[in-house]
Amino acid sequence: MYVALDDYPWAAGVATELVNTTAEVWRGDDRLPDLAALIAFTDLHDAPGDLSRLARRARGADLHAVHALRTTVRGLIDHPDRDRLLAGATTLTSPARGVTLVPDPARGSRTRWALPLSEGATVADALSLICGVGVLGVVHTLGEQRFRPCSAPTCRGAFIDTTRPGSRRYCMPGLCGNRVNVTNHRARRAATRDRRPTSEQSP
Ligand SMILES: [Zn+2]
Repeated sequence: MYVALDDYPWAAGVATELVNTTAEVWRGDDRLPDLAALIAFTDLHDAPGDLSRLARRARGADLHAVHALRTTVRGLIDHPDRDRLLAGATTLTSPARGVTLVPDPARGSRTRWALPLSEGATVADALSLICGVGVLGVVHTLGEQRFRPCSAPTCRGAFIDTTRPGSRRYCMPGLCGNRVNVTNHRARRAATRDRRPTSEQSP
């Protein structure tokens, strides 16, 4: 398999999803506890299909390597110093064997830059390469301020923001964003109730 360099938004998205599977984010419930969960994760994020194939070959040691990768990538997002991001992400791309050009199916005979994965690479190697390209692509194109913690007060998640305006606030917008909306809504309702005259409260 390979990771195309201009696929960095997708790659950064996989990195975000990966770091947010930890027990730290899910209050003790690891979302990648076993190989079945790892396969499900790759099925969800794999465009070309090779990642899923590698996940199906994985053993216990590969799962541990993915867990270690998760910690490494989280460390980069939590301390987004430019030099640190570049050095860390460059190391993450070490499972690649050089750089090459691959056909671009969306643009006829055109090609695009890509990093092919070394022969015999594991699913942890593949995910490492994906995370490395994601981090490098975002630093290059969008800047290191795109690496942020989740804004939901009770959430321990983090994310890489690849949105055009750079205004993403939550690690899992559908979940953390909704939680914050519900909390704010309840607070507003409570405040309205407290302000009402007594006669309205007891008809
Ligand atoms: Zn969150």
